[in-house]
Amino acid sequence: MPDWSNYRGVLVYVEQRNGAAKNVSWQLLGAGQKLAAKLDVSLMALVIGDQVEHLAREAICYGADRVFLCEGPELKDYRTRPYSRITLKLIEDVKPEICLFGATATGRDLAGAIATHLPTGLTADTTELDVEPPPSRLLLASRPAFAEKMMATILCKQYRPQMATARAGVFQALPRDPDRKGEIVRIPNPMGEEQIATRVVEFIEQKSGVNLEEAEIIVAGGRGLGGPEPFKMLKELADALGGEVGASRACVDAGWIKHEHQVGQTGCTVRPKLYFAIGISGAVQHTVGMSNSEVIIAINKDPDAPIFQFAHYGIVGDLFKIVPAITAQVRQRKAKKADPTEIFHS
Ligand SMILES: Cc1cc2nc3c(=O)[nH]c(=O)nc-3n(C[C@H](O)[C@H](O)[C@H](O)COP(=O)(O)OP(=O)(O)OC[C@H]3O[C@@H](n4cnc5c(N)ncnc54)[C@H](O)[C@@H]3O)c2cc1C
Repeated sequence: MPDWSNYRGVLVYVEQRNGAAKNVSWQLLGAGQKLAAKLDVSLMALVIGDQVEHLAREAICYGADRVFLCEGPELKDYRTRPYSRITLKLIEDVKPEICLFGATATGRDLAGAIATHLPTGLTADTTELDVEPPPSRLLLASRPAFAEKMMATILCKQYRPQMATARAGVFQALPRDPDRKGEIVRIPNPMGEEQIATRVVEFIEQKSGVNLEEAEIIVAGGRGLGGPEPFKMLKELADALGGEVGASRACVDAGWIKHEHQVGQTGCTVRPKLYFAIGISGAVQHTVGMSNSEVIIAINKDPDAPIFQFAHYGIVGDLFKIVPAITAQVRQRKAKKADPTEIFHS
């Protein structure tokens, strides 16, 4: 086995767009901190962008001990070449034993480019991360395989760093601590604009796009809705709470709602503060995508529906009566300027 003893520490890539970080970055710092503690090493973060020093400070609040910051106008938007060059140079200089990226479009692109260039092993789309204690120090990167029927734990024994991308919503961020102290290290961008072959011409935002992974409140409906029409009722509740509408696959397959709303194994994995499962039975392929939500409220007419095993609050009854009643309560409380989510705590 090669000697990798000069590779130490855990590095998390902080993904941002227009100066705003993706939540998965903070979730990965949470996961990374556990690994770093077990290995007794420091937790590092990498922030690349234009005028993103505030994110380096945020990374410290979320658990990083040392943040490498690379800034420049040419780094405003993500492009594979400069971003991977910067990361590669940092890996060469700092020699982290583990590197983590969000399994987003950007994270997958960046991690893939780096792993093939080094070359080293990369486990994509992990949902569990652990380490074997020293002396082995091996990263145990687990991900569902064979249509989620098995968990595969993948090891990278012969190469360093050990790399993984991780699903958004699976890992938990540490509570933000504004008083945490850490070090910010500025690093230069080795590539000038003239050396970068790609140009970002324009970003076209998907107008109808839903962002379930970042949503704090999700109101999800299932086959119990009986058709596309009742999704309007769910949207009213979601709007009243400032949330997004989610759905089970049954609804998507039936053509009641678009796939971008689907939660579960073949849809999004989410970790909102509040998740409503309305007329959803709680099949495992659905619950793998939402069981980490902070508070789950299930509304179902069948008291034996498996979703009640996951729910913190359960309402047995007809969704067509219950949902409008909750929406009315939320609106009433908002009109009184009370916290609309408070009804769920009272
Ligand atoms: C490979 C594979 C991948 C899959 N991926 C996903 C995925 O990503 N996401 C996903 O969701 N599923 C997925 N599935 C499908 C999954 O197995 C279930 O079939 C699906 O989640 C069921 O959706 P549902 O709960 O909406 O419907 P059902 O299981 O039919 O449940 C409907 C529920 O509504 C309740 N109900 C009915 N009427 C009312 C009413 N008036 N008031 C209150 N409650 C009512 C019923 O009691 C019932 O519990 C996948 C399946 C496979 C094989």
